[in-house]
Amino acid sequence: MQIIERLKPLSPTTPTNIDWSAVAARVLAGEPIDRATALAALQAPDAELLPLLAAAYEVRRAAFGNTVQLYYLMNVKSGLCPEDCHYCSQSKISHAEIEKYPMVSREEILAGAQRAVDSKACTFCIVASGRGPTERDLEHVADAVREIKETMNIRVCACLGILKDGQAEQLRDAGADRYNHNLNTSEDFHGSICTTHTHADRVRTVEEIKDAGISPCSGGIIGMGESDEDVVSMAFALRDLEIESIPLNFYIPIPGVPFANKWNLNPRYCLKALAMFRFVNPTREIRIAGGRELHLGTLQPMGLYAANSIFVSDYLTTKGQSAEDDYKMIEDLGFTIVAPPSRT
Ligand code: SF4
Repeated sequence: MQIIERLKPLSPTTPTNIDWSAVAARVLAGEPIDRATALAALQAPDAELLPLLAAAYEVRRAAFGNTVQLYYLMNVKSGLCPEDCHYCSQSKISHAEIEKYPMVSREEILAGAQRAVDSKACTFCIVASGRGPTERDLEHVADAVREIKETMNIRVCACLGILKDGQAEQLRDAGADRYNHNLNTSEDFHGSICTTHTHADRVRTVEEIKDAGISPCSGGIIGMGESDEDVVSMAFALRDLEIESIPLNFYIPIPGVPFANKWNLNPRYCLKALAMFRFVNPTREIRIAGGRELHLGTLQPMGLYAANSIFVSDYLTTKGQSAEDDYKMIEDLGFTIVAPPSRT
């Protein structure tokens, strides 16, 4: 990958003078973390990384033990999107050389679900590019979801964009367990990453999912030029929306995308962000999503002391490491993979 400009900020050195294990104890006692402490976690000096992660691990362990949930993504419709999300390789303003294709067949979606089962994933994520699904696309996905739920032991999460009235209910009735719609960033920074829809549009779809009784999945992307305060605001917005599953992406700068020159992350910062999200959302699934391999690098196993979930195999338009490497990493940590749910 050709990176045009790498912005590597200096890591802070001033001690926070915060006892991170005491923070964990307060969180575990049910006391929500305040914004100032969350920001301090994100801006902690590298010398505090291990105490910070150890504290996040206490919180993670109380909710999830040493288990890891695997998710498997399938991009069922790629590129050709009329929106202008500046970070996205599939947008109308992207010149990235990615595969572009319309909605794949029902058989291909079913084959993807089988690959997810074979990969030990507990959840199969059906992702389509676009502002939102047409009625035809929605019915097509709903049909596939129905058949997956009738024949396989796996949860299904759909991610099809902004929903129109009644579409969340259609997916619920087909058996979808979950719907993903990321907030992506803070309300304040959203105008800098997209002009064709608003943060409020995204929040509205999340609310519609919840109203329909579908488990909400929503997260974001770190490393697009936002401030630390924006990252903290996103963590609190997700908490306030009572999001059950939070995927955190670390921005992958793909050549041809407007944000292709952004690289302002280092592995320690990514770990601090995961710890901060764990403190703010102590009992929620936190998934290390896109950019895990690229930005956490050799430190990626440490991310699982704060997060409890990862994607296995590839991302939407970029490759991940092999499933075998993920299994080995989990085994080396002494953690176990959560089995898929039994079919009732
Ligand atoms: S709506 Fe989704 S697929 Fe379209 S440009 Fe934005 S992030 Fe990419």
